[in-house]
Amino acid sequence: MKAREWLEKAKQEQFAIGAFNVGNIETFKAIAQAAANKKSPVIIESSPGETKWMEPENVVDLAKNYSAEYQIPILVNLDHGESLQDCLLAAEAGYDLIHFDGGKLPYEQYLAQLKQVVEAAHHKNLTVEGEIDHIAGSSEVHTGSASTQFQTAQMTNPQKAGQFVKEAGIDIFAAFFGNVHGVYAEGGENLHFDLLRQIAQATNCFLSLHGGSGIPDDQVKEAIKLGIVKINVNTEMRQAFKDTLQKVLQDNPQEYAMYKIEPPVVEAVQKIVEHKIDVFGSADKA
Ligand SMILES: [Zn+2]
Repeated sequence: MKAREWLEKAKQEQFAIGAFNVGNIETFKAIAQAAANKKSPVIIESSPGETKWMEPENVVDLAKNYSAEYQIPILVNLDHGESLQDCLLAAEAGYDLIHFDGGKLPYEQYLAQLKQVVEAAHHKNLTVEGEIDHIAGSSEVHTGSASTQFQTAQMTNPQKAGQFVKEAGIDIFAAFFGNVHGVYAEGGENLHFDLLRQIAQATNCFLSLHGGSGIPDDQVKEAIKLGIVKINVNTEMRQAFKDTLQKVLQDNPQEYAMYKIEPPVVEAVQKIVEHKIDVFGSADKA
């Protein structure tokens, strides 16, 4: 099944597919094992930095290998591609979903390039995700409350979003209705469901939720009921990875074989992914 069919299935059956970032092979292993345990479809994704580090061909090949080994569907998403070039390269390398974030471009230029991406991607039956609100925050652990991020950020305007989706011809719209990237020490992330309802009505396309780390589970479940079908998760996995690695290194100062050090690290990330799959309702859908 192609990405579009998986998203359609998610919409019909009211679940969301987790889009989990990979920055190394250990994270990849953790996601694949979690998906296999839960019999869940998953999207693995790479941000510009992660794509550069992993190299796009490796991301695609690892996805194919793990998908075959664990007998689970793994779709590959370019997360926050920053240029036309980024997006076309990913499509060429074999990514299934392309997210073009035009945050660094003037709107008219972004729209023109996005249309080019849509044309190239649709030619290969790939999906394209766009955004106009430049979802605040970054995939890190922040001090303070998420609400401070909103002081400089605007949430999605449903009418503008509807026009944008129609004009660009995109498949997925990254909605911004109280979600922010990253985890906040004091919490403070609150989704605005009335706004999400209006966005769903105005856009009439697939909707993604960025910043899936740090939002209370019951709010995420409610958002899925209202039409969210793709949820991006990064920070909580990075946090589990780093904290566990630090601990294992401290506890085993004489161990030098990384493959002996890393199993607890993989396990910690896997647990996060398994929990997300449960919350997203995608278990047993593979
Ligand atoms: Zn994002």
